[in-house]
Order: sequence, then structure tokens, then C-alpha cells
Amino acid sequence: MTDKNINLPNLHPLVDQFSRTISYLRLSITDRCNLRCMYCMPEGAEENATHTKTGEILQHKDLLSYEEMLRVVRIAVGMGMNKLRLTGGEPLVRRGILDFIHQLTSLENLKEVRITTNGVLLADYAEQLFAGGVRQLNVSLDSLQPTKFHSITGRDYFTRVWKGLIKARDLGFKIKINVVAMKGVNDDEFKDFARLALTEPFQVRFIEFMPLGEKSSWKKEQFIRAEDIKDIISTIGQLTPFNNNRDEGPARMYELQDPSGQKGAVGFISPISHHFCDQCNRLRLTSEGTLRACLLNDKETDLKTLLRSDASDGVIRESIRQTILNKPKGHTLEDDLQKSGKPVCIGQMSQIGG
Ligand code: SAM
Ligand code: SF4
Repeated sequence: MTDKNINLPNLHPLVDQFSRTISYLRLSITDRCNLRCMYCMPEGAEENATHTKTGEILQHKDLLSYEEMLRVVRIAVGMGMNKLRLTGGEPLVRRGILDFIHQLTSLENLKEVRITTNGVLLADYAEQLFAGGVRQLNVSLDSLQPTKFHSITGRDYFTRVWKGLIKARDLGFKIKINVVAMKGVNDDEFKDFARLALTEPFQVRFIEFMPLGEKSSWKKEQFIRAEDIKDIISTIGQLTPFNNNRDEGPARMYELQDPSGQKGAVGFISPISHHFCDQCNRLRLTSEGTLRACLLNDKETDLKTLLRSDASDGVIRESIRQTILNKPKGHTLEDDLQKSGKPVCIGQMSQIGG
């Protein structure tokens, strides 16, 4: 079967060739960011400049407008998608995000809008986000030590992030903390992060470091498998798997109970060592207006050109459907890495949206 214009008329528009239902849209609303995480933003990226995948500076007009994104979401929700996450870049740096969220939450049939943020602006935005109907936040945090936080992210903002987390907690957000696990960088803090899950109402999820982006800092020596992280965490308490709700994402979740009886939830996301492609329900809209069916596969559909032509909603819908039908069965990162030993996916995380 070719992967072009596959036509399977009897399939539900959101079911792909491998019987996966694609119900979850992730929107990278900007590729700008107020941090410079060593594994994500290209080295030397200018403050708040946006870049193409090959590093040239983009104009604001090259990014999708909120109106354009809203149109895509409306059409996707009309096709049956019901879960939406705003990510980036750092979503909270894009002006007008609160109005945009309001427009999104006004859409019929959209269950919920969730946000992935680095937390730097969370203290400023938390109340308005809550008032706007957002209830779940993923906050990325790779170190609990201010100096190390600075060296990983290029900015001395640990205290700001922590304030944001506490404010969001007090407002009642459900919070997941995402930790990119890097050997020799933050592996000495895995247990501290797990203890945080015992003392705070945060789920802590460890993510395997992925080799994405041409300028990625990824090194084989820094990679640590989820199973090995789990072994480290199990030294502070008992880990008991609990029912994974697919809606909650690809993490394998465990209840952690320490010897004093304190409990918390920790998770492991293993895109490389134990990939979950057979259950993937995601489609991504990049900040530059391309649809991407797989995080770890650079194949994309140019939706922006359609959006900026006279294309009808029907044409946009068909483009979404074809992208879903062409969704790769799975990624081959582990094999590719064995062969090349370096990043094989040139798409930049900040544009794709993580
Ligand atoms: N700026 C927001 C943030 O940091 O949460 C949202 C965008 S960021 C690209 C989304 C997620 O991708 C973050 O949790 C980040 O840690 C993760 N990420 C970025 N590059 C990664 C990599 N190479 N391997 C694993 N996770 C990565
Ligand atoms: Fe910014 Fe998030 Fe990338 Fe860090 S991971 S540079 S916070 S987009």
C-alpha cells in the first residue's frame, strides 16, 4: 500500500490504518520560549526569536494565527477529537492566550483544554487560567536545585517556577511534573523528585531523554532507560502499578509508598526503550502550521498553505483525515540510533510541541 491519499471510506475519520483512534490534538501555539533548555532550543537562539527547523528566524506572520488554529481545532473537534493540549515553545509567552483559551473552551464537544508549561509565568497566569476553565497542567521541571536548574535551562528562574507550582496547587489544579531524565545531569535528583510526589499532590513523571532536533544535545551516555529509573525510585518505597487510563497519556503509572506509609504517584514515559506507538492517539499541529502524525517522524502535512488559500472546511478535514491515515505504525528510533548513534529526527521539539 502506498502512503499517499489512502482511501479507506469505511473507516471512521479518526481511525488510522492500524485501528488506532486519534482523539488527542496537541497544539504548539508558539516556538518562542523564555527558557533555553539544553536539549530543546538550538544553541545561540536569540531571546524570543522564532526559528524554522533549519534555524532561520521566522516572522510572526509565519506562525499560525489564533483564528487559524481555532479553525483547525473546530474542524478536528467536529471530526470527533475531544482532547486538546496547548504546548510550544512556551505557550504562556504568546500574547492573547487567555482569550484563545476562552474561545477554545466555548467550542461544543471539546472536553478539556490542558497546558504543558515550563512554569516560569505560571504565578502570573494561574488564576486567569483557572478562571478560564483549565484544570490540568503539566509542568516541566528537570531540577529542584536552583543552580542546576539554571545550567539546564540557561535561566535563573527556579524560584519563579516553584512559586508558580505552589500557586497552581493552592488554586486546585491537577498537576503533573515532567522530568526529562539525564544520566550525569539530574539522576542524582530522581529520588528527590519521587519524594516530592509523596509530600505534594503532584504526579511526577520521568521521561526518557529523546534524540530530537538537529542541534540536540542528546548523548548516548546521558540516556537512561525508564526501567533503570524505576529501579532507583524503588529504593525509597514500594511501587505498585495502578490502572493506566489511556486518556491520561503514555506514562506507566505507579503508586509509591514509603516505609512511613506516605503515598504518591510516579510515572515513567519510555518513548525509546518501550514505545507505546500501538496505542498512540495523538496528532500534532506545529507552530508553523504543519500537521505531524508522529513526534519522532519528520513527515508533516502543510496545513498552513491550505488555511491561507480558499480551502473549504471540507478540504481541511480531508487533509486531517489523510494525515491520520498516513500515521506511521511506529517509530524506529532505537534501531536508527543503533545504526547512527546520533539524533535522527530533525524536527525541533519547541516547534512540534513535545
Ligand atoms: N515549554 C513547555 C515545557 O517545557 O513544558 C512546553 C513545550 S516542551 C517542548 C514540552 C516537553 O517536551 C517538556 O516537558 C520538555 O521537557 C520535553 N522535551 C523537550 N525536549 C525533549 C527531549 N529531547 N527528550 C525528552 N523530552 C523533551
Ligand atoms: Fe522552552 Fe519547553 Fe523547550 Fe525548555 S523544553 S526550551 S521550556 S520549549
